[in-house]
Amino acid sequence: MIAERAEALRQRIAQACGRCGRDPDRVELLPVSKRQPVAALREAAALGFSRFGENYVQEAVAKHGQLPELSFNLIGPLQRNKVRLALEHFQEIQTVDGVELGARLRRIAEELQVQRGLWIQVDLWNEASKEGGCGEDDIGPILSEVRPSARLDFRGFMAIPPPAQPSAFPELAALRERWQQKLGQPLRLSIGMSSDLEAAITAGSDQVRIGTALFGARDQPI
Ligand SMILES: *Cc1c(COP(=O)(O)O)cnc(C)c1O
Repeated sequence: MIAERAEALRQRIAQACGRCGRDPDRVELLPVSKRQPVAALREAAALGFSRFGENYVQEAVAKHGQLPELSFNLIGPLQRNKVRLALEHFQEIQTVDGVELGARLRRIAEELQVQRGLWIQVDLWNEASKEGGCGEDDIGPILSEVRPSARLDFRGFMAIPPPAQPSAFPELAALRERWQQKLGQPLRLSIGMSSDLEAAITAGSDQVRIGTALFGARDQPI
C-alpha cells in the first residue's frame, strides 16, 4: 500500500518538476508519520525513507525508542518545557518561531553538545493560528540567537499557508530569496503537503511534507 502511494507521489513530484524545469532529485519527500503506527514507519523505512516528520514530541520519542535507526524532524509546535526532549530526539526542528525559543534551543543544544538543523516557521498572513509561525520582522532577531551557535545549522523556512491563498507560495519564495541575499547562504523552503505539493514545487519548494497521500488516513490511536 505505502509502496504504491510512494510511487504515485514520486510521479506527481516528477511531473510537477517537469512542468517547471526542476530536478526531482532536489525535492525531498518528507514522510509525515504523526498518528501513524510504528508498523507504517517500518514499512516506509523498508522503501528507503529514513527521515520522518512528526508533530508531537512525546509520540516521536516513543517511536524513536522503537526505531532508533530513523531520524525525525519536528514539524509541530514546540513548547518551551519540551525543548530538551526535542533536541535529544529530533535531528531537525522545523518550527522555530520566537526569539525566546531560539535562545533556549541554543543554550540546551550547547549543553547537550548536539548538532541540530533549525528552520524558522513563518506565518505571513497574520493568522495567529494554533499552527504557529512568526512574521518576517521576527526572523532577524531569531537568527541573532541561533546563528552564532556552532551547534545549530540554520536550514531555511517552513510554512503552512492558508489553503485559499494562491499568492502564499510565491510570497514565501520571495522571502526565501530576500534572506538568501541578506545572509549570503542557500536556504531551503519547506512548503507543500498532500493536496498542494504541485503548486509548492512550482514555487520552488525543496521539501514537501506528505502525510495522508503516503500513509493513508490518520485514524490510528496515538
Ligand atoms: C500533518 C502535517 C503535514 C502532512 O499533511 P498531509 O495533508 O497529511 O499531507 C505536513 N506538515 C505539517 C506541519 C503537518 O502538521
